[in-house]
Amino acid sequence: MSKEITSREQDYSQWYNDLVLKGDLADYSAVRGCMVIKPYGFALWENMRDVLDRMFKDTGHQNAYFPLFVPKSLFEAEEKNAEGFAKECAVVTHYRLKNDPSQPGKLMVDPEAKLEEELVVRPTSEAIIWNTYKGWIQSYRDLPILVNQWANVVRWEMRTRLFLRTAEFLWQEGHTAHASKEEAIEETRKMLDVYADFVENWMAVPVIKGVKSPNERFAGAEDTYCIEALMQDGKALQAGTSHFLGQNFAKAFDVKFSDKENKLDYVWATSWGVSTRLIGALVMAHSDDDGLILPPKIAPIQVVIVPIYKGDEQKALIDVKAHELVKKLKGLGISVKYDNSDNSRPGWKFAEYEMKGIPVRMAIGARDMQNNVVEVARRDTKEKQTVSMDGIEFYVQTLLEEIQLHIYNKAKTYRDEHITKADDWNTFVNLLDTKGGFISAHWDGTAETEEQIKEQTKATIRCIPLDAKEEAGKCILTGKPSSVRVLFARAY
Ligand code: AMP
Repeated sequence: MSKEITSREQDYSQWYNDLVLKGDLADYSAVRGCMVIKPYGFALWENMRDVLDRMFKDTGHQNAYFPLFVPKSLFEAEEKNAEGFAKECAVVTHYRLKNDPSQPGKLMVDPEAKLEEELVVRPTSEAIIWNTYKGWIQSYRDLPILVNQWANVVRWEMRTRLFLRTAEFLWQEGHTAHASKEEAIEETRKMLDVYADFVENWMAVPVIKGVKSPNERFAGAEDTYCIEALMQDGKALQAGTSHFLGQNFAKAFDVKFSDKENKLDYVWATSWGVSTRLIGALVMAHSDDDGLILPPKIAPIQVVIVPIYKGDEQKALIDVKAHELVKKLKGLGISVKYDNSDNSRPGWKFAEYEMKGIPVRMAIGARDMQNNVVEVARRDTKEKQTVSMDGIEFYVQTLLEEIQLHIYNKAKTYRDEHITKADDWNTFVNLLDTKGGFISAHWDGTAETEEQIKEQTKATIRCIPLDAKEEAGKCILTGKPSSVRVLFARAY
């Protein structure tokens, strides 16, 4: 069985789908826009989730769980949030089916089982959570509330793509409540830093931290901070968002607290989330035409060992050595798989593990046994080395670190080379069509101009980078004055 992959050059989109499907990360499902996450893909998500969960707990957060359904009256309480999500809401209207008298063997919605109030399947949980917080918060002593939820949400997306944009997706959503504006903003920024730290240092994907333009802001937020990543086709991807919600939800749900002077005020809020989209980011940022390339720090399997033998006798000898090796590697906390299954040949196994992006592959043959060596191949550069068995576990440990760094540096070099300044419209359009990536340009700050640029070029403002310097310039489209460059890109 061979697993052909479309090359990036040929069709980037198809290449991505091939990798996700043939790399065993996910599968299509019977439900439009919803996917099945397969065990290998889920193992990757679990690793990502575990690291993030630890980071959230280290910054003082606790996990909780809220209902999947939001009564419509609660959902509509914060008007901007409701309006923003209304177009993509799945709504439950009935709670029962019954036999269809006109079609034997078929079921129909029981008209007598209509809900008194429709339930919205959560596209995000601010409404149900702030309705709950009302009962939890009376005084400043009840604050802050630092809660995170791991959950699924549903947004009825029209154009879906495996992991990057699905109708149902898995995510975490932090929802915090604070006594002051300053503290809430500090939390928003802190969690953005946590996301950037995770995506850069664990996923090896460099990101730009920034703030969204009003057009791209989360519905119901005062400010949306984001991390933006760049994919290998020059398109940007929003990898995570952290929102300063002001007092909008507290006002909508009448959540007040009395401060130390016994004065009543509305509570300040934040929310922040990353989703299974991050898996898509990982695939698109690092992989090549032979398959996935996974960063060692979150790869479900870091090392695979493949024996090369003729006959049972050789196999038995190699098995003994390999099991020793597995033990040594596991002793250093390295996840390792020894694949001595008989049902496929080494060449097939090599291709399969290459496809799955396992960072390090070791092959042991009968002659290697005699020479006390093993062949070590790294997935990222495909380089092979013959290495002595003595202390091999330390060699592999260092190699995994080196691979992590190498794929980060490679992605960063590509990203840095694809941030280009444009000071006139022709250059701007030309860059988008030929080079892609982020275009750093002046913008007059109006929603109309942003909209026009999007209509004409499909490029959106990805963010105003947090480290952007004041610089007088002229808007790329209207020529009106601007004081700072923003980053434009075509995006997923
Ligand atoms: P938001 O609540 O819109 O700020 O989104 C929170 C996180 O979920 C962001 O990192 C988004 O990139 C991600 N996200 C939004 N919509 C989808 C979707 N349809 N599929 C997967 N991830 C999504």
